[in-house]
Amino acid sequence: MADIFVCHSRHDHDLVVFVNEVCANAGVRAREFEFNFSALGRTANEEIVTIMQECSVLFVLLGRNVLMSRHTSNWVSSEVGLAKGMNIPIWVMEDWFTPVDFPVPFVDHYLRINVGDPAHRDPEHHSWMQALVTVYGSRRPRSGDINIPGTQYLQCSNGGCQAIFAIHQPFDHIKKCPVCTWAQEWKELPQPSISE
Ligand SMILES: [Zn+2]
Repeated sequence: MADIFVCHSRHDHDLVVFVNEVCANAGVRAREFEFNFSALGRTANEEIVTIMQECSVLFVLLGRNVLMSRHTSNWVSSEVGLAKGMNIPIWVMEDWFTPVDFPVPFVDHYLRINVGDPAHRDPEHHSWMQALVTVYGSRRPRSGDINIPGTQYLQCSNGGCQAIFAIHQPFDHIKKCPVCTWAQEWKELPQPSISE
C-alpha cells in the first residue's frame, strides 16, 4: 500500500474536498506537508522527504489560491521538484472552470476536473478518479508501471517548451500547456515516455 501526496492551497476548497473525498472513499491516505511546531524530532525538509517516500504519486491541485500566497506557490514548486527527483509521477489537476496561470515545470499527467457544487459534478470524473486513486493506493511506492486506460500522450508545440505529458479520458479537453501555460497546440505521440 502507498499513500498519495497532495499539494495545494487549503483555500482552494472545492478541489481539496473533491480529492480528499475520493481518497477517503477508496480507503487511500492523502498526505500533505504541514508545518508542525510541536516537537517533530526532525526538520521540516526531512519531514517532507519522509512523507514523499511513503507516497506513490504527487497530486498538484492547481487552484487560484496557489497564486495568492508566495509561500504556498514556493512550496508547491518545491514539492514538484522533489517528486521529480524521487521519480514519483506528477499529476496536475485543475478546476475545469477556473484555469490558473501557474507554470509547473514537471508534469506527467494533466487533468481538468469538474469539482464544483457536488450536485453538478460530473459523475464520470468522480468514478474515474476513484479508480485512479485505488490503483496508486495499492501500488508500492515508486515501483513498476501501472496501466491507465484511455491515455493520450501530447507534446507542447511551443519550441521553447516541448513538454510531453498525458491526458486521459474522460478528461480529454485541455486549453493550455500546463508547463509553459501559453501554448494551445499539441503533437500527439504514439509512445509514452513519461512516468506512470
Ligand atoms: Zn508548453
